[in-house]
Amino acid sequence: MQVASILTVKGADVATITPESTIGDAVTALHHHRIGALVVSPDGRRVVGIVSERDIVRRLATDPDVMTVPVSHVMTANVHTCAPDDEVEQLMVLMTGHRIRHVPVVVDGVLSGIVSIGDVVKHRVTQLVNENQVLYEYMTGTR
Ligand code: AMP
Repeated sequence: MQVASILTVKGADVATITPESTIGDAVTALHHHRIGALVVSPDGRRVVGIVSERDIVRRLATDPDVMTVPVSHVMTANVHTCAPDDEVEQLMVLMTGHRIRHVPVVVDGVLSGIVSIGDVVKHRVTQLVNENQVLYEYMTGTR
């Protein structure tokens, strides 16, 4: 199964924030969208970083004034991305290997979606339930 099949279900919308915005703005956006990370982009198309709630909490431990700090000072600049035709299994390896829970989808250098670990788990559980149903029907002769 490919990443595109997850995007078909959840859509291509991605919450972004500019690098010049403050962490206060990021906290407001995370709260508003009820999400755990924002893709950092100057124009909503080019990915220049990612800032997650973990980055903010980590910075907060040493800097009580974190809310006024620019996003660019706290974000991770080396972003792992994927393509729509990547296999979901590859994505699971990437997420567990790098301990990241969000992977932006990029097509020809343009932000085209995002997959979270929650999306992957949901996708995998649905797949396993369907496989289980097929096996059950096969064994009981109801298929
Ligand atoms: P997360 O698990 O998404 O909350 O992020 C944990 C840490 O990994 C934070 O420092 C993030 O900035 C970073 N991170 C999250 N997603 C990515 C990604 N796709 N590529 C690189 N770093 C990431």
